[in-house]
Amino acid sequence: QGERRELAGDDAHYIRSVLRLKAGDPLLLFDGAGLEFAARIERIDPKKAVVEVLNRTARTEAGPRISLAQALPKGVTMDAIVRKAVEVGVSHILPFVSLRSVPRLSPSAAAAKADRWRKIALEAARQSGRIFLPSVEQPGSFQDVLDASAPADLKLIFWEEESRSGAREVLSLWRAKPPSACFVLIGPEGGFAPEEGERLRALPFVTAVSLGPRILRADTAAIAALTLWQAALGDWC
Ligand code: SAM
Repeated sequence: QGERRELAGDDAHYIRSVLRLKAGDPLLLFDGAGLEFAARIERIDPKKAVVEVLNRTARTEAGPRISLAQALPKGVTMDAIVRKAVEVGVSHILPFVSLRSVPRLSPSAAAAKADRWRKIALEAARQSGRIFLPSVEQPGSFQDVLDASAPADLKLIFWEEESRSGAREVLSLWRAKPPSACFVLIGPEGGFAPEEGERLRALPFVTAVSLGPRILRADTAAIAALTLWQAALGDWC
């Protein structure tokens, strides 16, 4: 409290040119790990903004942690998935290369993509008022996803060939006692390969769910799945 902080670069640009704030205006700062700081702009110029911190509040985000494991789609589709998933409340994003994923990234390209997606996640968290900055992993393998999903007490594979269980019905079963952590798995444009489907279905606490009779694009399916989650068990209910 009472400290001054200098915000430069992207933050200064966002404050000045996007939010169009000026000296004397209030604003909220966040550390991405649950702390929010009310502040006031003391002075601002094209390169930097100096703010006075007025107070600090610890905040939480309601609902279980939700992770999105997304098989790498083509092109820049993953950019939109990261942005929108952060807006609707995802906690953790694991891009992975599945058998039918088209992109095959070199280690340096994978690192560059992860850096780009983390920047997109930060912008989306800032714009949507997230308190916790979602983590975005470097693109991993199918096995990395199986390993990372182990602690989740609910794993939802969104499967267009699933005809028995609809997402709404599956999620309503968890209303009485919501899971502590959920893993949502979405395939690439070409879908999950049969052998991937078998390995996923063999996991403990796994359920295959349908998003209805139409085939959704991977980016549509990812956001539809997270939306259903937030509406049924997350912080939209
Ligand atoms: N195999 C699909 C086809 O025949 O065109 C393509 C897969 S779809 C473009 C990409 C991913 O979105 C799928 O792997 C699945 O995870 C999800 N998805 C799409 N439509 C779905 C639906 N109706 N129900 C559940 N998941 C769906």
